[in-house]
Amino acid sequence: MSIRPIYLDCHATTPVDERVLAAMLPYFTEHFGNPSSISHIYGWETEAAVKQTREILAAAINATPEEIVFTSGATEANNLAIKGVAEAYFKKGQHIITVATEHSAVIDPCNYLKSLGFEITILPVQKDGLIDLAELKKAFRPETILVSVMAANNEIGVLQPLAEIGEMCHEHNIIFHTDAAQAIGKIPLDVQAMKIDLMSLTAHKVYGPKGIGALYVRRRNPRVQLAPQQHGGGHERGMRSGTLYPPQIVGFGKAVEIALAEQATETQRLTQLRQSLWEQLSQVEGIHLNGHPQERLAGNLNISVEGVDGAALLLGLQPVMAVSSGSACSSATTAPSHVLTALGHSEQLAYASVRFGIGRFNTQEEIDIVAKHTIATIQSLRNPSFMDSPVKKRQSDLAPAD
Ligand SMILES: *Cc1c(COP(=O)(O)O)cnc(C)c1O
Repeated sequence: MSIRPIYLDCHATTPVDERVLAAMLPYFTEHFGNPSSISHIYGWETEAAVKQTREILAAAINATPEEIVFTSGATEANNLAIKGVAEAYFKKGQHIITVATEHSAVIDPCNYLKSLGFEITILPVQKDGLIDLAELKKAFRPETILVSVMAANNEIGVLQPLAEIGEMCHEHNIIFHTDAAQAIGKIPLDVQAMKIDLMSLTAHKVYGPKGIGALYVRRRNPRVQLAPQQHGGGHERGMRSGTLYPPQIVGFGKAVEIALAEQATETQRLTQLRQSLWEQLSQVEGIHLNGHPQERLAGNLNISVEGVDGAALLLGLQPVMAVSSGSACSSATTAPSHVLTALGHSEQLAYASVRFGIGRFNTQEEIDIVAKHTIATIQSLRNPSFMDSPVKKRQSDLAPAD
């Protein structure tokens, strides 16, 4: 097998944990029934498996199983939450508040609603990536129907103050949605204590399979109305039609169960790895930490580097590590990250950035290799005659110890 770069892109996705895969496998072949089939055991057994995941997810966020609606992922959950509320409450008001650093799966549905005539307020963030609660309060209007603020940012890992936001929203009778795709299994979430009405979840950022997620929809105090965005057989209490996908749902439940059981120790371990990486990198001048130093996911480190070209930096890192940069490359354009520009960065700093997403299967040894190679790459880009090309250096870094 060829040597592959060290995987440090856990905000993009994570591998399926072997224990998750083992739980899923029987549901492809032996237990293949449609959970909606109520007249035979094939349906009953997958219905029971689906129910179990509903219970696991509900317990994970202090909800009830009836409040969990399965979707294909967090993108669909965000769309259902935002467009579903807009359609159900437009007579009450047509104003929605969100934040500049949200994932495109929140920003884009909001922009779509804007094209239909809704008014959208996009709150700025402070230099550390956190929203200013006083700004949020100022943005409230009598016609505000929804506030959507993410739990944990996918680029800079910043954790927004959910409980404070929820308190303010409920005081004003405004529905509070949070995109918790990066947060589930990694930080404590409690929809009661945090007064959250809608919460988007996904399995594949927490060592579960891709293509499965959920939306928590509050049923009491208040009961949230949602206009379905996909019509059909009336699955998921009419909110999301379509045959349920038991293998993925079982995997989702198992993934969250494992993450919760290991949350305390894993958070500690990841924090140590991140601190070690930052301690090594911050020896070099002109490297900035992006996002709040403490209020962030344990496995997230995001840096901007002075005096180097962003594309060259990523190219130099690529042979050794799989990371992502602050520029979102779509097929046609390379634009600096909207998250990093929202922090007030210059274009150069927004471009020349690296997101390290450290996860369950990373080791201290890998972190040391990554730190050394990142430093060498930065130094060789700043001073090309300083040392051999980073690509050459890589072979010695990765050579197996004899
Ligand atoms: C990954 C991610 C999404 C999209 O989730 P999918 O399940 O891949 O659709 C949405 N929001 C955030 C914050 C994410 O990190």
